[in-house]
Amino acid sequence: MLKDPERSIAFYGGEPLLNLEPMLKIMDRIPAKYFSIQTNGTMLKKIPLDYLGKFHTILISIDGRKETTDTNRRIDESIYQIVVDNSRWIKENGFIGDLIARMAVTNNADIYEEVSHLLSIKDNQGRELFDHIHWQLDVLWGTDDILWSPTGSIKEMNWSIFDDWVEKNYNPGITKLVDLWVETMEKGKILGIAPFLAVMDDLLAERKTKIRCGSGVDCFAINPHGFISSCPIAYEEEFKVGDLTSNPEELRNSMPVDEPCSSCEVFDLCGGRCLHANKTMYWGKEGFDRVCATVKHFINELRGAQPRIQELIDEGVILQEDFAYPEFNNGCEIIP
Ligand code: SF4
Ligand code: SF4
Repeated sequence: MLKDPERSIAFYGGEPLLNLEPMLKIMDRIPAKYFSIQTNGTMLKKIPLDYLGKFHTILISIDGRKETTDTNRRIDESIYQIVVDNSRWIKENGFIGDLIARMAVTNNADIYEEVSHLLSIKDNQGRELFDHIHWQLDVLWGTDDILWSPTGSIKEMNWSIFDDWVEKNYNPGITKLVDLWVETMEKGKILGIAPFLAVMDDLLAERKTKIRCGSGVDCFAINPHGFISSCPIAYEEEFKVGDLTSNPEELRNSMPVDEPCSSCEVFDLCGGRCLHANKTMYWGKEGFDRVCATVKHFINELRGAQPRIQELIDEGVILQEDFAYPEFNNGCEIIP
């Protein structure tokens, strides 16, 4: 780890706050440029306040409105309320970094309603509680034999349900969200919708991307057993790329995405969405393509919005530099 001059450490799980001591030791011993954590948000008050202030980014699992979140993440109490209360508490108690609402989106979500709800929640000072909203579709993680989602307690969609939901809700919801995003820009404000920001930033700068989560390129998972894999959820042998003796430079670019991504017409903007999905193809090529159709719709809608956004920049209503997000690989995979 110390061989990497640009060290950025992200704690993830399961739930990293279930085992607080090792996390605090790592924060004491390894000087990292950035610390971030992905948490279910229920135990945030366990983080000592002097460590809380060291985090650049906290990603909290919340799936949108109360009923959507509580359905997905069943416990006796309202997980939504616990997460919102704890998020307000950390903001009152020294966390000044980037607080991200990290949604797992499945077919009970109305994407427009969930995202716009999260954007509307306020902290105790009346400011927006979440600095950014990010989501990823809960798809392609398993086959019909592997029905439990790694993100929680619900069954992953299979693609017979997926098609109908995409057509009736998800794609129209993305269109509506892009419209809301641009309408708000007309008044000089850029809503912190992470997937939109990062892709629009590249569109405006005419820049190509690599896989945006960084897996296999410049972001690797150090597993409890000491092996290093190309992606945090990948325990399979094929994803192992090194161990604690590996030099970071040997790991860089060690696992690129393959076809069909490398010859896809939106590869330069998408980057390949998910290395794990690209390698495992759990839904088969046909299922993979169905998810890609949502990515292409999302990119097309942003391309459609780009001319008006460029005008707003040229008129001085908004600044191009305000699209530069994220500042580092903060755990947002960007492509939903
Ligand atoms: S849209 Fe699909 S095929 Fe194209 S680059 Fe993205 S993940 Fe790969
Ligand atoms: S998006 Fe990236 S980090 Fe997430 S599962 Fe896929 S490869 Fe791993």
